[in-house]
Amino acid sequence: MVAPKAFLDFIDDHGKELIDRLKEAVAIPSVSGDPARREDVKRMAAWLLEQLGRFGVNAEAVPLGEQIVDGTPSDLDLPPILLGRIGADPKKPTVLIYGHYDVQPAQKSDGWTTEPFELHVDYSNDKMTGRGTTDDKGPVLGWVNVLEAHHALGIELPVNLRFCFEGMEESGCEGLDALVAEEAAKGDQGYFDNVDCICISDTCWLNTNTPGLTYGLRGVAYFHVTISGPGADLHSGFGGSVFEPMTDLIALMSKLVTSDARILIPGIYDGVKPASEEEIELYNKIDFSVADVEQAAGGKIAISDDKATVLMGRMRNPSLSLHGIVGASSGVETKTVIPARVTGKFSLRLVPPQTPEDVKIKVETYLRSEFAKLNTKNTLESIRMEGGSAWVEDYKHYNYEAAKNATEVSRLEHSLVGRLPTHFGGPFASPTSSLQEIWLKTPDFFREGGSIPVTLTFAEKLGKNIVLLPMGRGDDGAHSTNEKVNISNYLQGSKLLGAYLYEVAKLAPKT
Ligand SMILES: [Zn+2]
Repeated sequence: MVAPKAFLDFIDDHGKELIDRLKEAVAIPSVSGDPARREDVKRMAAWLLEQLGRFGVNAEAVPLGEQIVDGTPSDLDLPPILLGRIGADPKKPTVLIYGHYDVQPAQKSDGWTTEPFELHVDYSNDKMTGRGTTDDKGPVLGWVNVLEAHHALGIELPVNLRFCFEGMEESGCEGLDALVAEEAAKGDQGYFDNVDCICISDTCWLNTNTPGLTYGLRGVAYFHVTISGPGADLHSGFGGSVFEPMTDLIALMSKLVTSDARILIPGIYDGVKPASEEEIELYNKIDFSVADVEQAAGGKIAISDDKATVLMGRMRNPSLSLHGIVGASSGVETKTVIPARVTGKFSLRLVPPQTPEDVKIKVETYLRSEFAKLNTKNTLESIRMEGGSAWVEDYKHYNYEAAKNATEVSRLEHSLVGRLPTHFGGPFASPTSSLQEIWLKTPDFFREGGSIPVTLTFAEKLGKNIVLLPMGRGDDGAHSTNEKVNISNYLQGSKLLGAYLYEVAKLAPKT
């Protein structure tokens, strides 16, 4: 089963309307981190709910109660989570879609060249600028575009769909974990009934040329280590006569990691499998060079000249980074002070089978034994840790095969090249345009250096395969000023999401 031509044509023929839809969404400043914008976040939820309902989705806005601020409920209501379903055909697989309708804050004065909450469409550069265009309103509307096309054409969707759209993603996903757990516990009675696989479109390609699929995210264990001694900050005239907390802390922190990124904590690599030949090959194939890493870092500082080594360092190996010291003199002035109490901050990025809890035990044991070796009279007051687990998915699952096929095949079988509406007059209007370089490729399979907690929530609560299928490119600037999505990525991306559903229908085992 491949995506019907009528569906692909619909996206091509309605480009202007689909862009107008994004324009409407961007105009609602649904900034979840700003209490003053809470009504806008709710307005965005209502807008999206209406869109879903219009195209046949049975959806509801589930209230999440009051936001917890500093441990106590505030009088600020959380924005709702939208849950929805369309289709209940037992012969079809069921796909759960996640996205978020809230955005990061943005102000023109931050350095935007256009108003962040007015979609700026630049046809000649194939670009649409505005907050949320790539993270995550563009991808969410990609799904809505798929729904509209099928609704308008009277074509049955190839799968049953379930939706979960949240409004607090940019503010710690408050309320999501509990709701997903509750809904999962309802089994067949809940919105996640019979879910076979999950698709999240909330990441970007690694670069600007090659589509990608993300199959892993590193976890994190963030440490605060506090050492104290003197009753108050001392004049450095005391230097030489007392044990100094800062000297002890720096001695400890210097024992955590080498300059070439090897972690020195005993047992920290336990269970982390060395990469197989096949896996190294996967890294060598990724369209991302050592130079790309250095460009992204803004300096010629890659850990090695070997591409696989550098990419594995970022994506599949644990790492430890030192972040700072609280309580230290931080200004530029010459200050002759011996700080009385200092807190060192560092974090590890984790990969399976490492867990934050296990890493905490190893770090704590090591730091205490190294501290004892210092023979200092200062006190190692506390070692605190906050953490989140890593996630790595089976990328040989049909869910990935479907996403990969949709990326490759939707081009070849339907010759999308040149099918975008010519009245745009953009660079993608001609068959020889730059568009030919997009999506005619096998997607890169990669893991991200950072974390997306929601992925873990679904993995834990539903236990189904999750694919992270991006719409936008690596230079979209999610969370940054002048966030954009390419027009071609938005429109072709809508086709991609639709084509993916057809591939799932084709590849999912028949029950
Ligand atoms: Zn996002």
